[in-house]
This record gives sequence, C-alpha cells and structure tokens, in this order.
Amino acid sequence: MKLHTKIALGLVFGALVGSLTNAFFGDASWVRWVTDNVAYPVGQIFLRMLFMTVVPIVFTSITLGVAGIGDMKTLGRLGGRTFGYFLLSTLIAATIGLTLVNTIHPGGGLSPEIRDELMARFSTQGSTPSGPPDFGVSTFVNIVPRNPVQAAADMDMLALIFFSLIFGAALTLIPKETAAPVIKVLEGIGEAVIKIIDMAMKLAPYGVFALIFGITSQFGWSILQQLSLYIIVVVVGLTLHGTIGISALVKIFGRMNPVRFWRSIDAPFITAFSTSSSMATLPTSIATAESELDVQPKIAGFVLPLGATMNMNGTSLYEGVTVLFLAQVFGVHLHLGQQIVVVILAVLTAVGAAGVPGGSLPLMMLVMATVGVPPEGIAIILGADRILDMCRTTLNVCGDISASVYIDRVDREWEGLPKAQPGRHKAATAVVD
Ligand code: ASP
Repeated sequence: MKLHTKIALGLVFGALVGSLTNAFFGDASWVRWVTDNVAYPVGQIFLRMLFMTVVPIVFTSITLGVAGIGDMKTLGRLGGRTFGYFLLSTLIAATIGLTLVNTIHPGGGLSPEIRDELMARFSTQGSTPSGPPDFGVSTFVNIVPRNPVQAAADMDMLALIFFSLIFGAALTLIPKETAAPVIKVLEGIGEAVIKIIDMAMKLAPYGVFALIFGITSQFGWSILQQLSLYIIVVVVGLTLHGTIGISALVKIFGRMNPVRFWRSIDAPFITAFSTSSSMATLPTSIATAESELDVQPKIAGFVLPLGATMNMNGTSLYEGVTVLFLAQVFGVHLHLGQQIVVVILAVLTAVGAAGVPGGSLPLMMLVMATVGVPPEGIAIILGADRILDMCRTTLNVCGDISASVYIDRVDREWEGLPKAQPGRHKAATAVVD
C-alpha cells in the first residue's frame, strides 16, 4: 500500500474513532487520559520529527537554490516574480473571502446569547492569545538577524530565510573553487535531511491518527452547529479559491493542467490537513514538487521555504472572513474603505504569521483592533479554529506549490530548458510514494 494511502487511512480512522469516543464517552476521565498520555505524545513525536528538519532544510535549500540560480540578475527577476505571485494569489483569496462574508452575512445569524456563551467559555480556557503583537517598523528591522544561530534556535523563519538568501548570494560572488566544497557539504546535509523526513513520514499514518484522534475526541461538536454558517463560509471560500483561483493561476501562470497539478500533490495536501502547519509540511512539499511535478530542485528549494513562511492564501481568506464575521456579530459596521484595510492587513499579516498551528491568531487580533472590532471577540471562534486551521493550512501549502510551478516554468523558459514533465521521477521517491 502506498504511504499516502496509509496516511489518508490514519486520518479517516483517527477522525472516526475520535468522534465515536467523543459521542459515546464524552467527558469520561479515561478519554482525557488516553488523549494526554497516548495520542498527544505520539502526535507530537511525529510533528517534532518534521519540525526537527525545518531549520536545516530551510537553510540548505534556500542557500543551494540561490547558489544554483547563480547570478544576481536572474535571482532578482525570479524573486520579484515569486513575491508578485504570492501577493496576487493572497489578494485573490482575501477578496473571495470578503465577498462571501458580505453576501452571506453569517454574523447576523448568531444570537447574542450564543455569542456571550462562547465568549465566556473560551476566554477562560487559557487558549486565547494574550493580545495583538507589536507590528511596526521593528518587525521589518528584525528580519535582519543579529545572530543567525539564534534565529535558527528561535525558529525565527523570516530571519533565517534572510540569512540563507544572503549566504547563498555570497557563495555565487566568491571564487568558484572556494564555494564548491561548501556547496558539496550543503548538498550532503540536504540529502541526509531528506532521509530523516523519509523516516518521519513512515511514522505519519500513526502520527496523523493520533493527532486527529486527539482533536476529535475532545472536540465540542456543538460548536460546529452554533457557528455553522461562519464555518460554511470559510470552507466554501477555501474550496472556491482552490478549485477556481489556484487552478486558474496554475493554468495561466504555470501553464500546467490543473487536474494534473491537483492529482500530484496528495501527500502535502494530507500532511498539511493533518498537521495544521505549513512548516511541518515543507519537507513533503519540496519532495513532492521535485518528484511529482518535476520542479527543478533549485526552484523548489528557493520558492517553497519562502512560501511556507510568507505565502498564506488560506490564512488571508480566513482572516478576512473572521474579522468581518466578528464585526457583524458585534454590530460594528465596516464601510468599504475599512474593508479594503482589512484585505490589505489580511495579506500583510498572512506574510508575518508563523506556519504553525494557530500561527495567525495573534496577528488577526491586530487586524481586528485596527478596524475597531473588539480583539477579545476572537474567543467566539476559538472552538472551531483547529478544524478551520487544518483547512486553511492545506490551501496555504497548495498555494506555495502552485508558485513553485510558475517560477519553474519561467526559469525553464529563460534557460531554454525543456518543459517540466510531471510524473517523470515518480518511481524514484520514497517520501511521497
Ligand atoms: N496554521 C497555518 C499554517 O501553518 C497558519 C495559520 O493560519 O494559523 O499555514
């Protein structure tokens, strides 16, 4: 049986067993015990095996990607297109979200009693982010790390990416024979890390089972009903952006058949859905882009780590919908100008959000505060956030991979290389097969 079929089975069985446990045994103390002492550790070991590879893979793949691209002029042109694509796809996503939330008006359907009940329940659970973070000039200054080792230790991705970009660029500017051994070592590290990911992915079916069991066995299903209209708007928005938005971008910019695209990316799709983390999915995305979609390693290594940190289509759509939904719930009227501010901030904060579960929540509070929606109101949607996080992260990752397809197409044209042939390396990869 293929690995990703096993992972999908882990997902389905985890959800089934978890939901049944929740339905029949609900609050029983042994359920909590099993979740805390069995499901949680197994899920965490799997996630940590993936996270463990993130720093080395970001550093080696970006450095090698930049060094492979070679000259600064090409790098600038590819980099400009990469950021342009990130911005465009994120903007489209946020706009879809805002249009839907304005049309369907889910906040109007939430009664004040349920609102207050949810506020009371979730603001006391300690899961509410402590408040909006500082977001200003210093956010940009901090992208330049004082100490790259510290940045790596803190998993400060933007700073690590910045250092890796500069390091890769520097390698192309020093004499070739001096750079060559460094590149060889990095290639070796990169390959070894891919092997570790291979091992981690062997654990995936069990890890995914445990993660999903942990969520569903504890999940308050009644929340789905109370927030049903809001959840439907988010999920419909994400689905629309995936099936129409990303498909159109893949066709127009990547010049690839969208059906081919979607059929090739089931491994990162499932991994993103079950881990709720773009970062944890990054290794699988790189492996899939290279092996299934024939994206050149230098392009996958350059675009995908940037994307996992900066390109979050699903998150920006989600932020737009949620801020507007909560504005409706609190009866705060946002006129067109303010809604445009929401879109812009949703796009910007999606760049700043960490690719980890719930990474965007503190930044979303910032957007709420900026347009006058009470940030503590976030408690209302927290109960449903985990499920929606799984969905938006999946779209985030699909958006990243679509960007790599586009940049690869452009690079091949400039370099006069033959077109990508998706599926050509299929048999060679263990990670996704
Ligand atoms: N979990 C998301 C991701 O990793 C970030 C977020 O929206 O919270 O892509």
